[in-house]
Amino acid sequence: MAEIIQEKGGQILLHHKVESFTEKNDEAIIDTNQNTIKTSFYINCAGLHSDRIAKLANIQTDVKIVSFRGEYYQLKPEKRYLVKNLIYPVPNPNFPFLGVHFTRMIDGTVDVGPNAVLSFKREGYLKTDFSFRDAKDVLFFKGFWKLASRYAKEGIEEMARSFSKRQFVKNVQKLMPDIEEDDLIPGPSGVRAQALKEDGTLVDDFYIVHGRRSIHVLNAPSPAATASLEIGKEIVRRLEECRLAM
Ligand SMILES: Cc1cc2nc3c(=O)[nH]c(=O)nc-3n(C[C@H](O)[C@H](O)[C@H](O)COP(=O)(O)OP(=O)(O)OC[C@H]3O[C@@H](n4cnc5c(N)ncnc54)[C@H](O)[C@@H]3O)c2cc1C
Repeated sequence: MAEIIQEKGGQILLHHKVESFTEKNDEAIIDTNQNTIKTSFYINCAGLHSDRIAKLANIQTDVKIVSFRGEYYQLKPEKRYLVKNLIYPVPNPNFPFLGVHFTRMIDGTVDVGPNAVLSFKREGYLKTDFSFRDAKDVLFFKGFWKLASRYAKEGIEEMARSFSKRQFVKNVQKLMPDIEEDDLIPGPSGVRAQALKEDGTLVDDFYIVHGRRSIHVLNAPSPAATASLEIGKEIVRRLEECRLAM
């Protein structure tokens, strides 16, 4: 993808942290930690930071990004024969998360997970990661307390599965009773950017809002990686609409 973008005259600027926007009559100015970029239009797809970027652009929304860490185990090589395909539980329709599942990867390894644990750091890949700013942002958001009061039991169960391998395995055994604690080795983790509304609802679809010179992707949950090209087409379609309206 990077090669195609560059072949078509696009530039990829890594390590450019967007810090502010200024919109004028005929252009938008983006200040980054490295330089200033002038453009007619910009698209915010900043994942875990997309709500903060939207705020910098003066976009009013009722959503905040809450981060949920998804932790994985991997199946020991001698037990990989048990998993020949993807194996998923029936998901709980109240949550945008799929539940712990088995994923056979193209190199033959098998991932088991992820759980979904509230993270007090937006990029908190470790259990011990903590950011005062990120924690304050979540704890002072009334949508979080509404969600927490509704789903306290589920939240506590997820935390228990995070800290206790035995609890995690119990959950896994519902799908595959032959799995034992010793069959799983700790794997990597990922952090989901999940938009939460002020009324405590987890947004379970893609959520895109428009500014005068901008488009903001404020919720792009799984399968947004798989669907990225289609989402890209939709953004381009909206971009054309916005340009016509300008
Ligand atoms: C554990 C886990 C499992 C998943 N499994 C699947 C799956 O099986 N299938 C699937 O389709 N999806 C899956 N997903 C979801 C998928 O990863 C996301 O939906 C997708 O990555 C969202 O893409 P994005 O471009 O919106 O955000 P991201 O991929 O998060 O990209 C955001 C980018 O914005 C940059 N950024 C942030 N702030 C700034 C700033 N101030 N200035 C400049 N740049 C900034 C970041 O550095 C990052 O590069 C999974 C996610 C997790 C966490």
